[in-house]
Amino acid sequence: MLCLGIETSCDETALALVRDGVVIADVMSSQADVHALFGGVVPELASREHYRLIGALCDEVLRRAGVTAADIDVVAVARGPGLLGSLLVGMGFAKGLALTTGARLVGVNHLHAHLLAAGIAAEMAYPALGLLVSGGHTHIYRMESPRHMPLLGRTLDDAAGEAFDKVAKQLGLAYPGGRTIDELGRKGRVNPTMFPRPYVDNDNLDFSFSGLKTAAGLVVQANPALIKAARAVATGSALSADASHVDGTEPDSALPDISDLYDMCASFNHAVADTLRIKLERALVRENGPLPGAPAAPARKKRKKSGMVAVAAAQAASPEQAAPAADAGQGGPAPNPHRAPVRALVAAGGVAANSYVREALGDLARRAGLPLLLPSPALCTDNGIMVAHAGWRLASLGLGHGLALEAIPRGRSIPDDFTMFRSV
Ligand code: ADP
Ligand code: MG
Repeated sequence: MLCLGIETSCDETALALVRDGVVIADVMSSQADVHALFGGVVPELASREHYRLIGALCDEVLRRAGVTAADIDVVAVARGPGLLGSLLVGMGFAKGLALTTGARLVGVNHLHAHLLAAGIAAEMAYPALGLLVSGGHTHIYRMESPRHMPLLGRTLDDAAGEAFDKVAKQLGLAYPGGRTIDELGRKGRVNPTMFPRPYVDNDNLDFSFSGLKTAAGLVVQANPALIKAARAVATGSALSADASHVDGTEPDSALPDISDLYDMCASFNHAVADTLRIKLERALVRENGPLPGAPAAPARKKRKKSGMVAVAAAQAASPEQAAPAADAGQGGPAPNPHRAPVRALVAAGGVAANSYVREALGDLARRAGLPLLLPSPALCTDNGIMVAHAGWRLASLGLGHGLALEAIPRGRSIPDDFTMFRSV
């Protein structure tokens, strides 16, 4: 089965071809440069760019694979959530292609496609617990199958990626800044008490990153040298400061102290990763019961003010000791004995490319004795391969859509409105 995947939900125009689950070609054009000037995606510009590029990119992916449009069995398209004008470009193109070639149309939930991408390089084990962390979403799902993924928790305000991008913007770093903050942090040292673990002192599985973003903003405001250091990094002059550090020569006194920037980024990465880990661990305990070897659930302390586990972390002997104790999740509902325990942890979306997040979740998976399935970093951010792969999985189950398929903008949930066809 040859499946073409089309992704135009935000600012990447991306197409890929998957044959029987094997990726045979992919193309992608990122609009990051177009939007960088504005510090965020401008919807009208995004849809115009998709429209300008999609035809040529389709020709190119077919050429690279050595196939023609007539060979396509399934046209899978990201139907949402996303920017409506951008989605409509991919959707119109996919419908036209399906109509003229007779291929099956499959509307793919962009968020599910991110998670299913973890099953490209490794065998997916269902049910799994899936953490989707991207620029627009921070969701925890119970993944029952490629089609059924009940939502267990969601962000109430900013998504994790948004927090990264806004902090990067405050520092004057280019959009999107998540990857840069990850890379800068690798050169620094984590101060586990610099930032709070936001919205963990409760019993739920939801997220709220706006407080962490504000805390980082206050640190930047109080230390303007961080912005200077970020500018030095952006212009490359930080490299000479780094070099003088390594070769022992006197650093240039005109250059700001880069190490504070590195430490702040390390601490921010750590706070995001730890917060994600805390909530995913809580979800796992609710699905499967206490982790092997976990101490008995501690009595929940009453706090005057919610949201700041950094205080608890500060009182602990080390950040490693602080982290598991900071999870208040053992007090939630007992696992449902009629529900199969989850067999794997999955994380995907742009922030799942973050090295701190990958480490923190790897540690959780080891403690839980479960596999952690992650897409390669390149497949964590938006791409066409994940849509083609998800489309192939859904079509293999006999699922598809008619031409009435609707695009779903951000904020509306994606209906499960598949039609059953015979298997392709
Ligand atoms: P969306 O689908 O919501 O547009 P993506 O899944 O493409 O989002 O992810 C983009 C987001 O991922 C951006 O917010 C970007 O800053 C963030 N991101 C990408 N790489 C990293 C990284 N290594 N560390 C942290 N954030 C990252
Ligand atoms: Mg995405």
